[in-house]
Amino acid sequence: MIIVGSANALSGLDAGWEVLAAGGSALDAVEAAVRVVEDDPDDHTVGFDGYPNVLGEVELDASIVDGSTRRTGAVAALQGYRHPVSLARLVMERLPHVLLAGAGAGRFAEECGFAREELLTEQTRAVWRAGLEAASSGGSLPEQLSQLVRMSSDPEHVAGTVNVLACDGSGRLASAASTSGWAWKYPGRVGDSPIAGAGNWADDRYGAAACTGFGELAIRCSTARSVVEAMRSGLPPEPACERALREVVDLPDVPFEGAIMHVVALDRAGRHAGVSTRAGTQYCYRTARDERAQLARRAVLERPDPRRG
Ligand code: ASP
Repeated sequence: MIIVGSANALSGLDAGWEVLAAGGSALDAVEAAVRVVEDDPDDHTVGFDGYPNVLGEVELDASIVDGSTRRTGAVAALQGYRHPVSLARLVMERLPHVLLAGAGAGRFAEECGFAREELLTEQTRAVWRAGLEAASSGGSLPEQLSQLVRMSSDPEHVAGTVNVLACDGSGRLASAASTSGWAWKYPGRVGDSPIAGAGNWADDRYGAAACTGFGELAIRCSTARSVVEAMRSGLPPEPACERALREVVDLPDVPFEGAIMHVVALDRAGRHAGVSTRAGTQYCYRTARDERAQLARRAVLERPDPRRG
């Protein structure tokens, strides 16, 4: 049994571990861990008190994958409900669909009995307003939001996501991702977290992987699925992550500095890794040997050598 997550999953990992230790499923464990982070008011990149879009609306993306069946559920651009990971799970379990977006996702949350609430706090609203004023030189919102969004979208400073992967006592794998996406994003922008295979994937036969970082790139490169495919081809988690990230940094229109992407991976043997295109990032894990969740350093993807064409 093991549970693995992005560094910001640390606050929820022990809750996920308790589920596994009590004989619960990997699916229940990843959901439990992510819910803790979604509730955390100090994490402004996930769930309650997440940074909003350019209009000041918190829009949440999340997905969950059951590695035994490869069933998945997801919600995107959800407003007004704080546990998108649980709603994603209900999409998977109750609907003949995989992904609900926007007003439809909100309607489903209502049907499922989720409590509607304002997710933006006064403190985060102030940060949003300050960022907006800096980007728009103090003026009012322009009609061309697209201009403003370009100015204010620096993925390194305004984004984040929680990833959790787990393997339970029966060898079943599951994965979950949840985020408020890029702060000051264009309304309706959807990142990689709710896109199966892009930001999140699990398959009991090979392993599980999930991403944080520049979601548009993970969508273009199907990064989570690529990591799992690399493990399928026999690679351990770390080189599997490197192979998938290599696809991202090789995109011809994206400079290495702009290819900000971090992945975590877990294979069916319980081996795990975190790899990033940036130095100094971490991930976390917990096994039966650990008294509590542990932080570990992510390996860093080497910059391509320009002399090798
Ligand atoms: N991947 C997320 C997104 O693009 C943001 C992040 O993880 O930094 O929405």
